Amino acid sequence: MTDDLKKNLSEIQAQWLTVRGRIRQKIGDAQFASWIKMLTLEDYEDRKVILSAPSNFIRTRIIEQYLDIIKSYWLVQNLTINDIQIIVSKKVKNLAVEIKTNETEKFKEQNNKDVFRSISSDLDSRFTFGNFIVGKPNELAFAAARRVAESKDVPFNPLFLYGGVGLGKTHLMHAIAHEIKKRNPLRRVIYMSAEKFMYHFIKALRFKNTVAFKEQFRNVDVLMIDDVQFISGKDSTQEEFFHTFNALIDQNKQLIISADKSPQDLEGIEERMRSRLGWGLVADIHPLTYELRLGILQAKEEKLSSRISSNILEFLAHKITTNVRELEGALNRLSAFSSLVGREINLDMVQDLLKDLLKSSQKKVNIEEIQKKVSQHFNIKMSDMSSARRSRTIARPRQVAMYLSKNLTSRSLPEIGRRFGNRDHTTVIHAVRKVEELRNKDASFDEDVQLLIRMLES
Ligand code: ADP
Ligand code: MG
Repeated sequence: MTDDLKKNLSEIQAQWLTVRGRIRQKIGDAQFASWIKMLTLEDYEDRKVILSAPSNFIRTRIIEQYLDIIKSYWLVQNLTINDIQIIVSKKVKNLAVEIKTNETEKFKEQNNKDVFRSISSDLDSRFTFGNFIVGKPNELAFAAARRVAESKDVPFNPLFLYGGVGLGKTHLMHAIAHEIKKRNPLRRVIYMSAEKFMYHFIKALRFKNTVAFKEQFRNVDVLMIDDVQFISGKDSTQEEFFHTFNALIDQNKQLIISADKSPQDLEGIEERMRSRLGWGLVADIHPLTYELRLGILQAKEEKLSSRISSNILEFLAHKITTNVRELEGALNRLSAFSSLVGREINLDMVQDLLKDLLKSSQKKVNIEEIQKKVSQHFNIKMSDMSSARRSRTIARPRQVAMYLSKNLTSRSLPEIGRRFGNRDHTTVIHAVRKVEELRNKDASFDEDVQLLIRMLES
């Protein structure tokens, strides 16, 4: 977090370049050249970005027309931004010099940290049991983690947690560490990623002090290694890990391992290691259900400073099915945007702000499904989608279905025409135009169409 706060000017400048690029795509070269291009990144301080415009006229115009989109695009790059201000430029700062000094300082700081850092990685203070929402998919893993954290002895060894990315493995491991330390600050807990384990091991090999390396681990009470799938294939590290692992288990020290797959399915890992990893308790975290996604969103929303309505939370729970990290990312983006522009978020804004996230989880729709949903919605018979009847109550829904087929599937116009009772492709073109026109004119019609799109895509 402190690194985020101190995000230096060079990073901010890189973000500004990306933001400019995206705006240019959105508004076109001409508009871009007259307005956005005039802006210069002036400063960054206290999470506030300051841009300068060459004149007051340009400044006012940009604030009126483009400030919102600058903000929303910038938030996609960097959620920690608090404000973006546009001033009229007064002086030309030498950014290059500033960036250089910042970089050197950062480098020094990093070096110092490396020297003094203990072998265990930092724990995220938000990753506690209290902040973990439990549902069917993760209840076993949660119960096992609690059990390990609360026991004085070693209930099962190792505890092996596995599941896809962003489902809470790291969260649970940190929660175990917090709980153990709370109960007994003297217990020595080491948490580290498998990658870091490897890094230290290889370094120890190079400096020929593997004995000291091993000692570090032999003195711990609880050792947690996150993401062991990254150890696979690296022979000597695997060997060392295996020895350290066996030694600790023999001494009755608690081991907690996580991976993206079960021990049996881990690739590139030696058989004896694979089987030993499965000796204790193996607990998997299943993909999230809709209920759990919604529960997580509701819990996280309560902690935000800006309110997000429950229908938007439901929408997100429907659309973002991959993992908790993406759900959180979406929520943070919406909340940051809402507090930045001082307005409540509506569904349109959600769709715009989360375009990238929504696209990846969007479902493919086919013409038949469209015809079915549209007929249900307008209460007509499915067969009327291809019938010759032309009364408005039938023809309008049919046009909507053609319009949706054009926009939501990759079918060609003639193909769409064929599927609607062998109609000509010009009929489809006419339907698409008609629906576009009505959407612009008639708000309640437009809402109908939006609703249909949402239903079809979720
Ligand atoms: P993994 O290690 O499995 O890839 P993480 O533990 O890093 O996943 O989780 C990703 C993000 O989702 C974290 O911010 C974490 O706090 C959050 N998260 C995951 N599962 C839950 C849950 N059940 N309740 C609340 N937050 C969760
Ligand atoms: Mg993780």
